[in-house]
Parts: sequence; structure tokens; C-alpha cells
Amino acid sequence: MECAVVGKFFSPFFSSSRSVVVEKRKLPSLHKKIKFCSSKFKMKAIQAETHLSQEAELQAEKRGSSTGVGVGELIWPSPSDGTPFWKKDFPSSGVSPEAPADVKDSDPKHIIHVTAEMAPIAKVGGLGDVVTGLARACLSRGHTVDIMLPFYECIQKQHVKDLTVITKYNSYHDGNWVPTNAYRGVVSGIPVIFIEPSNQFFKGQYVYGGSFNELEAYLFFSRACLEWMQQVTSTQPDIIHVHEWQTGALPLLYWDIYHHLSLKKPRIVLTIHNMEHYGECSKEQLSKSGLEGSVYASIDKAVDDRTIGHNPERLSLLKGGIVYSNAVVTVSPTYLKETLCTGWLASTLLRNRDKYYGILNGIDTTMWNPATDIFLPVKFNDQKPEGKKFCKYYVQRGLGLASEGTQDGNHVPDITYKAPLVVCITRLVPQKGLHLISHAIKCIEELGGQMVILGKASDVQVETEFECLAKLHNQGPCIRILLMFSEELSHMLYAAADMVLVPSIYEPCGLTQMIGMRYGAVPVVRKTGGLADTVFDMDDQSNHNRANGFVFEGIDEGSLNCALDRAFMYYREKPDEWNGILKKVMEVDNSWNNTAGKYVELYNSKSVRL
Ligand code: ADP
Repeated sequence: MECAVVGKFFSPFFSSSRSVVVEKRKLPSLHKKIKFCSSKFKMKAIQAETHLSQEAELQAEKRGSSTGVGVGELIWPSPSDGTPFWKKDFPSSGVSPEAPADVKDSDPKHIIHVTAEMAPIAKVGGLGDVVTGLARACLSRGHTVDIMLPFYECIQKQHVKDLTVITKYNSYHDGNWVPTNAYRGVVSGIPVIFIEPSNQFFKGQYVYGGSFNELEAYLFFSRACLEWMQQVTSTQPDIIHVHEWQTGALPLLYWDIYHHLSLKKPRIVLTIHNMEHYGECSKEQLSKSGLEGSVYASIDKAVDDRTIGHNPERLSLLKGGIVYSNAVVTVSPTYLKETLCTGWLASTLLRNRDKYYGILNGIDTTMWNPATDIFLPVKFNDQKPEGKKFCKYYVQRGLGLASEGTQDGNHVPDITYKAPLVVCITRLVPQKGLHLISHAIKCIEELGGQMVILGKASDVQVETEFECLAKLHNQGPCIRILLMFSEELSHMLYAAADMVLVPSIYEPCGLTQMIGMRYGAVPVVRKTGGLADTVFDMDDQSNHNRANGFVFEGIDEGSLNCALDRAFMYYREKPDEWNGILKKVMEVDNSWNNTAGKYVELYNSKSVRL
């Protein structure tokens, strides 16, 4: 059957529509399916099934339904398009603010998050997602929630609704009172207060890595938030929820300065998303915040234990935050156990064990919802998964991956070339298992699969290594290495993927395996931290009920090979079981509905309220 794909790209979220003849292409015969019968790429036709079910065709006609988009009118993208396909006509702002509020808490609290990141406007990794997701979940449970964020120069202001200056005030830094603006705005339905100092802090193209002194900027920000609550607005939230080392000085500033002024009610909760970054600080730098740095240079306060007796000793803002907060949370139960046994902060955490909790992160299912996702050309969900095939084909076409055609001389009569597509969406840092990521390229190529890496490196050497890999592979039919940060493309890749790879050396929680699952990508992960709490191996007979992916333990290439081999074998040789896994991963509830309640319990607990 041959058809001309003519017409408009239709999506309820896309403003423009263009009429063009895109191409003529072969559509496969409807009753064939191809299967690779071994991992050495042999293909044979097996039983009847269609690449594009008639139901999907029907769905495609139902414009405006949550999973139906005018597929017949899709313009298939190509790598030679002037604008990359994930940049085309995308709407500028976030998601619908409404989240289903199944639960209302009886004793609503006022919670202010003080954070360096917030998705989607200032996101570098999972911290941004978690702050937005937890804030939205608590809002929908009836709490009052605000987020306080630096007004980074790189924030695109058009993404913030109702942005207005609310106050001009002064906040202390290094002997001076710095004129500062506070703005109010709404992001994805969540109220945000932006702090903008009149100096160079937070200027630059990116959230991190500007040419100002980052540590001092966050010390300033921590104090400016308290100053705003105490001096400017007399706000007395129940909870000030701080995150990571960047806001680790806030608990010190609160208990040793602001609590002695009029800020009496708040209690402080610190969430540690990653212990690797601990906010190394000198006494002199801490003194710039108005605290006396040397007071904190003791083992029971903020000194970095490893530097005791050295000249000079150093402080750690994260350690200070642990000691001075009412409760400390880390982002998965397994990471909590790991951090009590390893790393230099273990002794501090053990001393503070009675207020240290492990609460698994959730994902923001408003933002990460394949049935409504504004970044997807075709929507789908666990009930109507057909749209996923179109997303895969769309991405294959857009990236110039083999999508239809021949391999080993065989024609593949399927809209989606029957090679499993594996994605890895990550910051390219050693934590994420860089040697395993680069090894996966080779392994997946040998197995006859496809792989897309969407990664951003902050280290020049790592960037260069991956640039070399990109040069080597990006012209071929099966591997793409894209060295950038792109929220839009990440959504499309999760939707397109058959598998999501997370080979981390350690992983406090990990969101990509959870997001992947929601988008019907089966996780292949290393057993560590939150990955161990969320992914359970298909071949582990003792835990079959929970089985939802492929897990390996070693950090060696052989362990990864074995997990990928098994995953590919299921994909190709056990289609029924594969479809079963697909359905199961899409149904797993990793939403904040599940875990926000644990934070609320903590906000209400005696250890925090005392
Ligand atoms: P971490 O917080 O250590 O970076 P997580 O798995 O907790 O890792 O969260 C990663 C988040 O950042 C996910 O939302 C993922 O989609 C996103 N992400 C990571 N790298 C990129 C990238 N290069 N482009 C777009 N999104 C990315």
C-alpha cells in the first residue's frame, strides 16, 4: 500500500498548521510482524499483527481526545529540517496547573521551599523536578505552598505568569546591605517568589557555572529569603523546606539570627538529593553571611571532618544544614542506608539518625503525562498505547535513525523498525556510570538495537570524549549522541523509547527510570539507591509480582551486557511477556500522590514541631 502523507501537523497544543506534501512512503502490509529470532539480527516473519492497529487509526481521527491526534496529518520530521523537530512550534509555557486532589489533609500547613532549582524554568536535574512535583502535590492536598528561587538571568520570563515586582528591600552580604528585588509569579500553577540582588549574583546563561562566586551567591540567597520573610513580609510559615548544600546555611542563619528576631514559628526540613555536593566553604566565606564562621568550625557543627587539623580547616554547608535542621530527608530508603555506611558524612548522619528519614521521590504526573504531554506529536497512555509507536517512528525519522528499510537484506515491513530503541537521558558525570554509558553504545549496536543519549557534561574532558563518540556514530543508522539539555526532546525520547538505561554507579533516587516507565519504556538499571527501590528484575522469581525491568549489580561491562542481552531477548523472543511488562510499567504509580503524604506526616511530626 502506498500513501502520500499530505497535510497539516495537527495537535491541539500547536498553534500553527502548515499544508505541505511531506513524502510518499510505503505502508506495510497489515498482517505481518517481524521478529529478530536471535541477538545476531536474524529476522523472520511471525504471526499476524499490525504495526498500526486499526484502533490506532481510528484514534488518530479523534482529534482532541487525550490520546488521539491527527496522525494522518503528521509531518514526519527529518534531520535536514531547518529547525530541529523538538523545537518546532512548541508552546512556550508549562503544563496545566490542575492536579487531581484525591486527598485533602486535615491540618493544612504553610510551606516555603527555598531552592536553587525548579522545573521547568530553572532545571538542571532531578532537584528541579522534585521541588515542583512535591510543591504541586502539597498544594493539591490543601496546603499553602510557595517556592523561593533566585531570579537567574537565564530564566525565560515569558514562562512565568503574572510576574510582578512586589518588594524592593536590602539584604546583608559581606558588610553591605545589597538592594534586592522580590518578584512574585506563577509557574505551572505554583506561586514563586524570585529574589534578585542588584549585584552580579545569578547572572549568566545557565543556572550553574556563571562567572560569580556561586557559594557566596547562595549564602546571600539563603539570608535574603529569611530577610524577606522576617523584615519585609512578616510571614511565619510552618515549614521552611530547604534543599541541597546551596540552602544549607539557611538553618544556621535561622536559628542563630532570625529566630532571635521575630521569626519564631517556622521549623526547618532539609532534603538532600545528592551527598556528593556538600558546599565546601571557608570560615571567612561563611562570615560574609553575617554569621561568625569560626563558631561553626567544630565537629558537632559544620566542620568538614576530613579537614580537622589541617590548615585551613574547611566547613561544609550541607553538614551544617544536617545539624541545624529539625528533620533531614534523603530521597530513597536504600540511599539512606547507603549513606549511613559510606562517605564522610556518615558519622554526622549517624549522630543525627533520629531525625534522618528516607522518602522516595515521586514524579510530577501532571508534567510527565503521555496522555496530555504538550511535547509529544501523538499522545498515549496505558489504556491506549498505540500512539507510542508513532512517537518512536517520529523520533527515528527526526534523528535520521533507521526506521523502515533493510538490514541484512531484509525488508522490515513495519512503521517502527523493529530494533529496540534504548534511551539514556542524563547529566554526563561520573556518578551516572560514564564508562557503562559509552560501553552500552557498542553493546546495543552489536545487539542490533538503537540508542539515543541525551546528555550534558559540565566537565570539558567528558564533553570531549562524548563529542568524539558522537562524531564516530552520529552519521550511522542506529546511534545518536546529543550533547545538550533539552526538556522538549527528553519528553519525546521517553515516549519513543522501548527501554531506558540508567547504569549509575550510585543513584540517590533517580527519576529517569520512573519517568521512562510512565512513558512505556522498560528500565534497565544498576541496582543502587533509588533504582533498587523502584526497579525489580524480570528474572527474579522471588519477586515476580513486582518485576518491571532488568537489573544488574556489577559496575563492569559484562554485567551491563548481560542485562541488555536479557532485555533484548524478551523484546524479540517473548512478545507477549514484553507487552505485559509494558503495560505493567505504565501502570506503576510512582506519582507524588504516593509519597507526598510521607512529607506531610513529617511536617506534622513531633520531631519537627517541637
Ligand atoms: P539527577 O538529579 O542526578 O540529574 P535524576 O534522574 O534524579 O538525576 O533527574 C534527572 C532529570 O533531569 C530528569 O527529569 C531528566 O529527564 C532530566 N535530564 C537529565 N539530563 C537531561 C538532558 N540532557 N536534557 C533534558 N533533560 C535532562
